[in-house]
Amino acid sequence: MVDLVGQYQAIKKQVDESIAQILNSAAFINGPEVHAFQKELEDYLQVKHVIPCANGTDALQIAMMGLGLQPGDEVITADFTFAATVEVIALLRLTPVLVDVEPDTFNIDPIAIEKAITSKTKAIVPVHLFGQCANMDVIMEIAQKHGLFVIEDNAQAIGANYTFKNGKKKKAGSIGHVASTSFFPSKNLGCYGDGGAIYTDNDELAHTIRGIVNHGMYTRYHHDVVGVNSRLDTIQAAVLRAKLPHLDSYCNQRREAARKYVNAFQGQDFIILPKTGIDCSGICENCDCHVFHQFTIRIMNGKRDELAAHLAEKNIPFGIYYPIPLHKQKAYIDKRYKESDFPVTNELVKEVISLPMHTELEDDQISFITDTVIQFLKN
Ligand SMILES: *Cc1c(COP(=O)(O)O)cnc(C)c1O
Repeated sequence: MVDLVGQYQAIKKQVDESIAQILNSAAFINGPEVHAFQKELEDYLQVKHVIPCANGTDALQIAMMGLGLQPGDEVITADFTFAATVEVIALLRLTPVLVDVEPDTFNIDPIAIEKAITSKTKAIVPVHLFGQCANMDVIMEIAQKHGLFVIEDNAQAIGANYTFKNGKKKKAGSIGHVASTSFFPSKNLGCYGDGGAIYTDNDELAHTIRGIVNHGMYTRYHHDVVGVNSRLDTIQAAVLRAKLPHLDSYCNQRREAARKYVNAFQGQDFIILPKTGIDCSGICENCDCHVFHQFTIRIMNGKRDELAAHLAEKNIPFGIYYPIPLHKQKAYIDKRYKESDFPVTNELVKEVISLPMHTELEDDQISFITDTVIQFLKN
């Protein structure tokens, strides 16, 4: 699905040199690279504060702790996503409220959000799934109207832009009150192990969060709040510093690959292409709203699993993101949910398939993949 070795070869010299330097200085925790990366990411995202941490799941949890959410508070998020989002809500004894997504973008449905709001609702967590933002115009409006926090789960869309209805653009993750991201190796900006970050423009929240990531300490050995131990390693920060200057070009390479997939699949029966920046010309002049963490299509003839088996036979990697709606996962089953609340997710889990997507995809690989899919669907 991803080719991380090819990407490493292109930045090998810089990465090897900075890792060697860290090994010699032994500044493994909170070394100068961590602070430098923080500043560089703040600059890239145009946010006031980036707080690096150990992984994207921690980032979500710490954001919720920083906002002071309390047991029993309801947090609305998408039914069709990776479990990390609902997991941290449940861990903090908040009440997860899963809602359906939109069939064309796969992102959380603002109409479903508004229907799920109660007097206990405190926050909305839109997950910018597969590389493009949820409908932030409407989500921010709903949040403002009901006095709710918006926590953007930006693990999959770092580098994407969001174009508001008024034409203004902002980077994914810089729109809500606070955002989380992941530097897991296969994410668009990945390190060589685990890593994550929280970001916000709010000075007070940033200060609170800086203490929470470090055992609730604001002064050494004074623990003012219950915190966690969640740090980005110096070595991972060095890798991220080498990669960050290339993030826009990585995203462009992914977009280029997506364009080729779209061109090949255009007009094919049984394939629904993702609604993307590619076909929203007029809204996004430069088509910068999707960074294709995944290239995900819907197979409409009921043969998704057969296609998957066929791809496996041809040694073509694929992913099924995600095969089970969160509301049907044992850990998150809740009497309050009705199947009729999730018509879209219940369909998507049977139809979606994600094709190889990374910065090193060659034209002949893409045509082999698209030809194989098209041939299979014709038979
Ligand atoms: C990857 C991911 C996370 C978790 O990130 P980790 O760094 O693996 O903890 C959270 N949310 C979404 C949507 C993700 O894709």
